[in-house]
Amino acid sequence: MANVHVPKPKPVFSIRWLPRIKCYVVIDPQGAVCSAPTSKDGAERLRDAKQAEADRKAKRGVRPCLRCGHDFLSEGFHNRMCQPCRGASSAEGMSNPYCMGAMTGRRKSA
Ligand SMILES: [Zn+2]
Repeated sequence: MANVHVPKPKPVFSIRWLPRIKCYVVIDPQGAVCSAPTSKDGAERLRDAKQAEADRKAKRGVRPCLRCGHDFLSEGFHNRMCQPCRGASSAEGMSNPYCMGAMTGRRKSA
């Protein structure tokens, strides 16, 4: 594995087979072993758990809504209002400047 240290925008955990001890371990985004040796199933579960934890630390997850203050599941630091509040702002006639265009526009057929 030569490209373990290639920087990526999203930290990714992986698993690695260690033939010497006949076990799998979880490798963190920096390429370091971050689990005890375990079975493939166990390593995959651990990797998923560590990935979820990293995602949480990257601000994906529950956060309070800027508008109503209720906790909601945020998609990231760009996502700071809960769904009802985002719907409410457009219902009040505020067009959302951060809203992406509908999928019907500007689609190139090559
Ligand atoms: Zn809200």
